[in-house]
Amino acid sequence: MQTFLSDAWKETAQGREADEILRACVHCGFCNATCPTYQLLGDERDGPRGRIYLIKEMLETNSASRETQLHLDRCLTCRACETTCPSGVQYNRLLEIGRDAVESRVERPVTERIQRAALLHSVPEPGRFRMLLSLANLVRPVLPAALKNAMPACEPMNEPWPSTSHQRKVLLLEGCVQSVTAPRINLAAARLLDRLGIQALPAAGCCGALSHHLSQEQRTEATIRKNIDRWWPMIESGAEALVLTASGCAPTVADYGKLLGNDPVYRSKARKVASMAQDISAFLELQDLDLLANRNPDASLIAFHSPCTLQHGLKRAGSVEALLTRLGFSLATVQDAHLCCGSAGTYSVLQKKLSRRLLNQKLENLEKEQPTLIATANIGCMMHLQSGTELPVKHWIELLN
Ligand code: SF4
Ligand code: SF4
Repeated sequence: MQTFLSDAWKETAQGREADEILRACVHCGFCNATCPTYQLLGDERDGPRGRIYLIKEMLETNSASRETQLHLDRCLTCRACETTCPSGVQYNRLLEIGRDAVESRVERPVTERIQRAALLHSVPEPGRFRMLLSLANLVRPVLPAALKNAMPACEPMNEPWPSTSHQRKVLLLEGCVQSVTAPRINLAAARLLDRLGIQALPAAGCCGALSHHLSQEQRTEATIRKNIDRWWPMIESGAEALVLTASGCAPTVADYGKLLGNDPVYRSKARKVASMAQDISAFLELQDLDLLANRNPDASLIAFHSPCTLQHGLKRAGSVEALLTRLGFSLATVQDAHLCCGSAGTYSVLQKKLSRRLLNQKLENLEKEQPTLIATANIGCMMHLQSGTELPVKHWIELLN
């Protein structure tokens, strides 16, 4: 694709990066075929190729409109388009640059600003989020059913963390939402690792994905620095990996090196942390899993939903399914498994209608073979799927205990 970036953009590192990405696109449109929002809305501007054009236009004219903001907002950042693209276009990075540019040029209506600020100042702070959720749950009985189903409950952590000390140690990211609504997931992971002779050290903190997706870069960088300061002593004392049970956090942590690339003090530590980050499926694949095999497989059928962050972000499509099958579990065949469930971080809050339509489609496909439960690999997808089904929805790691 030919580009003629405005002088203002040509001179910046972001502009040069965007230019390179734009030039890789041959506007073939293959990506539209796997884009959930294009499938739902049928508007070129709600597909990856159209969004790429909108960003190109913005960088060429150095101006942005509310319309561009709307179509970029509707993107799920699911990255299915990247998996499909034959030219290797780094759409997600281009979108980040495009969203940053729009955010600084187009003022949002006051309702959107309040909604985004509320998310930004509550969800990534586990203490505050727990308090707000506890208050909200007090009025839960009088809420309409739709709101009641969408609202997660706080889950107490009543059971003990494994206390055996092992020579092999890993950090286990606690995260923000997961540490409040489902601490049982990391407890299950810690017990599993304990059985494999590995000690899991809780690593507190939000990975920074939420503020990053809301284009709040200063806040994201501050979160990363805080995490590095908290985790560094454990890294120095020999932790061999940073294991993540929420696949939604892994692509952000893997990008820490880039996100703090301009920080001379933290740059090398950020790269080290990024290089240690592994989704738990990737970490377990390298261990001796004989101990974990399901020795008494029952006839239960499990429908696995592979989060976009796992299959498109981390490029690990089929990895958890292969692991579960190897360990003796029976998996249902899920049609259109490449499509997003509509959770997509804050998308289920900020784009409710589209998110709901994607959820209904996803559940229809997951429930087709009448499984006994749905399993997935990310807390956001878990809560979103659970809001629309009576079937239990679990993290796959819980099945291994
Ligand atoms: S992003 Fe890739 S698939 Fe989409 S139009 Fe460009 S080259 Fe084609
Ligand atoms: S990230 Fe997902 S929603 Fe966004 S353009 Fe790509 S395929 Fe479409």
